[in-house]
Formats: sequence, C-alpha cells, structure tokens
Amino acid sequence: MLVKTILNRCERFKCFVYGQVRFVTQAGRDSLDVEVKPRKGSAALCSCCHQAAPCYDHASEPRRFEFVPLWGYAVFLVYVMRRVDCPRCGVKVEEVPWADGKHQLTKTYMQFLASWARSLSWTEVSRRFQTSWEKVFHAVEYIVEWGLQHRNLDGITAIGVDEIQWKKNHKYLTLVYQINGGVVRLLWISKDRTVESFSAFFDMLGEKRSAFIEHVCSDMWKPYLQVIAQRVSQAVHILDRFHIVARINKALDEVRASEHRRMQAAGREPLLTKTRWLLLKRPENLTEKQEPRLRELVQYNLQSVRAYLLKEEFQLLWTYISPAWAGKFIDRWTTRVMRSRIEPLKREALTIRRHKPLILNWFKAKGAFSSGVVEGLNNKVKLTMRKSYGFRHYKTIEIALYHSMGALPEPDVTHRFC
Ligand SMILES: [Zn+2]
Repeated sequence: MLVKTILNRCERFKCFVYGQVRFVTQAGRDSLDVEVKPRKGSAALCSCCHQAAPCYDHASEPRRFEFVPLWGYAVFLVYVMRRVDCPRCGVKVEEVPWADGKHQLTKTYMQFLASWARSLSWTEVSRRFQTSWEKVFHAVEYIVEWGLQHRNLDGITAIGVDEIQWKKNHKYLTLVYQINGGVVRLLWISKDRTVESFSAFFDMLGEKRSAFIEHVCSDMWKPYLQVIAQRVSQAVHILDRFHIVARINKALDEVRASEHRRMQAAGREPLLTKTRWLLLKRPENLTEKQEPRLRELVQYNLQSVRAYLLKEEFQLLWTYISPAWAGKFIDRWTTRVMRSRIEPLKREALTIRRHKPLILNWFKAKGAFSSGVVEGLNNKVKLTMRKSYGFRHYKTIEIALYHSMGALPEPDVTHRFC
C-alpha cells in the first residue's frame, strides 16, 4: 500500500492531490516528504475573501507543512504556494485547506498535538513528538482560538466568579464559570481582580445574554460584589459556601500560628507543633493517626482549640433548610465569636454579619447547584497551574486554562489520529 493511499483515506482535499512521497534526511532527522499539487481544473482560492480567483504566479521554493508523524518519521506536506490575482482583493497568497497563513504545522497536526496536551504536559508532548514547546503552545493556542470563535454562549443562567493567585507577589486572575444545567465550563479569564477585569466578561457576553442570568456565585471580594450589583442586578447573588469556609479556615490558621509562636517564645510545651491540618480538616477526613491526636489536643484550654470548635460549629449552618433559621444561627454564632476575644475570627464574624443577606441567598437557591462546584473548579485550576511549569506568562496560562476547562468545540475531523 502506498503512503498516498493512506493519506487519501485520512485527509483528502477537494482541490489538491498527493504526488510523490520521498524519504528525506535533513539535519539528522528522517522524514517523509509528500508532494501536494493542485487538482486539475480546480481554481485557487483567495486567502482574503475565500473566493476562487485566477492564478497570478508561483513561489520559487516549496513550503513544508508538518503533518502527523507516521511510525516515528516526521511527515511533511510539500507544496509550491501560488498567488492569485483576486478581482476583489488584488494580488494575494492563495488559501490552502491544510494550514493557515501563520503556522508551519498543518491544522490536523496542531489538533493532534493539542489533543495529547490534554493528558500530558506541554514539555512531555514536545519530547514525545520531537518538536518544540513553542510549537505545542501554538498548537493548543490554535485549537483554543478556534473553540472560542465557535462556542455557543446561549443558555447561560448561572455563573460563578473566582479569583486565583498565580504569581507570588499578589498577582491574581479573575475566572468566570458557567455552572448551570449540567454545563460546567470556564467562560472567561482576565488579569487582576478589579472591577474592570470582571466587567469585561459582561461586555464579552453582551447585554442580551447577561439578562438571562438568574444566579451568580461569588466570594466577598468587593469589586466583584460591585460589578454583580451593576451588571446583573436581576440575578440572585449567592456568596458560596466554599469561599466562606475558606475564610474562616484562614482565620483559624492565623490563630494557631500566632499562638504556637507565643508558646514557643514562652518556652512552653510545643502542643501545637504539626497541628495545622489536624485543625483545618473536617473531622470525617482525619486519618486514623490524626483522630486520637485531635481528641487529645482539644482537652487543652488553648485559643486555637476554642477557635477550632467555633469553626466546626459554623459548619452546622449548611444543614439548615429555611433561610430564616439559618439567619438566626448566623446571629447566634457571630455573637459568640464576638465575645471570644479571638481577633482573626472576630474579623470574619463581622464580615459574615455584613454579608448576611447574600449568604442567606445560598439557602434560597438551594438545589440549584451543588455547593462543591466552585470548589472543584478552583482545585482544577490549581492543578493545571501546578502541572505546567513554564506558565509564567499570562497568555500561556490563559490558553492552558481555556484548553483544559473551557469545554470548547473543536474542528470536525474525518479521521481520529489519536
Ligand atoms: Zn479576494
């Protein structure tokens, strides 16, 4: 069987045919060079208006477009590009179906690499296919850009907004997700966590679609609250459980760390050594070893223990069904915290009081979304960022996150290469 026959099966072009296949060794790398020629009687297309146009001239050298490798050999489509004399656009380079103007890789090969980049790191993909990290990046970028242009943004009724730290010196990203009706996907990424970065999402979505949004989940970050009030005032705004619990945990951790330091300085028994996760975990998630240690620790009259018990008690909030009773619980709990003289927790109690109506919206919307949805997404973002060293540039992280979490459509293929 000829390579040509295989190619005609998996990648056939209407206006072009395959010619000779040669084995070429270039710079120590073996490859199959497949000649591509225009099909007899088919006209060239203008790359500007996509219409047929008379041929103007040929390039002096053929171009090599990298295709999906075969049995460890690189494969190139070799073609002498034409220019057309388009009556609408003037003299333009022709359009070819296997590549776009910018890339040396064929579209099919880019889709192939991008699909591997879903399961392997970009570095690993470049190693496996003897290509460069940059080429893998461009492949993913191409697929993501195609997906963003072709995605359907109708039917969004619930969104969640989240901020994530991506650089040490307090650099944040704003992420917006769709979370309704079984569709969970990343809709938007922008730099910073300002009013502008979140507003830009609604500019992209447009007023018409924004009007269909019924629920918005967020944390208590002020610029977000402001944008939600302005741009989707019709929606029920929910402060989600994950972010509230995360704040209380952070306060508890502050209490523990400073008490630990005070005890060390006073030369007391180091009771709080390695208790961080003991206190932060939910009791049901403790390991067999941790359980007895926690039981012992709570016997001591420590500020950290009192803070721990208050944190655990707060979890009861989520068992309420009626917003009214949940509200009463919040009043009782915050009063107790305010009397506790534990400053970091008092700070959070005040915040919770201030945002009580929005927190109670969580109970009003109950059943609309699972409470773990925002938390799950947040974890997935962190995982993508961890997996990928070399994501120091914003553009790279943007492309990587859209690729892994955007649920973007991809160009139709006649043959699956992997
Ligand atoms: Zn044209």
